[in-house]
Amino acid sequence: MRRFVNKVVLVTGGGSGIGETSARRFAAEGAAVIIADWNEADGRQAAERINTQHPAPESGRPCAIAIRTDVSNEEDVARLIRSVIDAYGRLDVLYNNAAVIHPGALEDIEMTAFERLMAVNVKGVFLMIKHAIPHLRRSKGSIVNMSSLGGLTGQASNPIYAASKGAVIAMTKSLALDYAPDGVRVNCICPAGVSTPLLAEWVRQQPDPPKTEQALRDMHPLGRPAEPEEVADAVLFLASNQSSFITGTALPVEGGASLGY
Ligand code: ADP
Repeated sequence: MRRFVNKVVLVTGGGSGIGETSARRFAAEGAAVIIADWNEADGRQAAERINTQHPAPESGRPCAIAIRTDVSNEEDVARLIRSVIDAYGRLDVLYNNAAVIHPGALEDIEMTAFERLMAVNVKGVFLMIKHAIPHLRRSKGSIVNMSSLGGLTGQASNPIYAASKGAVIAMTKSLALDYAPDGVRVNCICPAGVSTPLLAEWVRQQPDPPKTEQALRDMHPLGRPAEPEEVADAVLFLASNQSSFITGTALPVEGGASLGY
């Protein structure tokens, strides 16, 4: 499928994990991709990998570029959007994927950690949409926000992350109403476990890694966490015209993990 030919796609947190996989998939389907990651080296390497696989089209412009951005910083976000429009003249898809996680009992979480998490996971989504929306209105574009199953159902030992992802769901549904008259769709994705290097590292750090791995399999009725590609499938579907009549949805991509709640 080539659903994103001549489309310009902006991926926050595209330097690693699900964001990187999705960025690669957007490029494979013809998009020009801008990777906006706080981690400059990861963003640059992700863009280079895409450009190696997808050499520059006739325009001579590389298929992917990286622009170092802290989504919680309004100046960074404003500069990012200006750079995208200067370089490409349009924006069709905004995929808000950048996020941080801070598990633990609420009473053990420092105020600074709470504020940082909310600044990236909630304020970051607010700022990106605030600055991108004039251009998305023009292209009748699509916004995909990364939420989490925890934002729908709650999650043990992860209260502030789950709260931030609940806020993303509420913002998604509210903005779907506000922007529907403009033809801009707004949706979000709610994964449970996803097999990323970060998850593997977290498992390695647990007191009993094999037991944690088994618990991770058991929490999904389909018997395993998602592959990043499977989450990217949902991201690209919601970003594309294939979902042209879907807006305001929080799509669980969780192998049945929420069933039985
Ligand atoms: P996942 O496994 O869910 O994909 P990652 O931690 O691998 O999670 O991906 C999150 C991405 O978001 C990382 O590439 C990280 O650098 C990026 N990120 C985190 N905070 C910010 C921020 N403030 N601005 C931009 N990108 C960020």
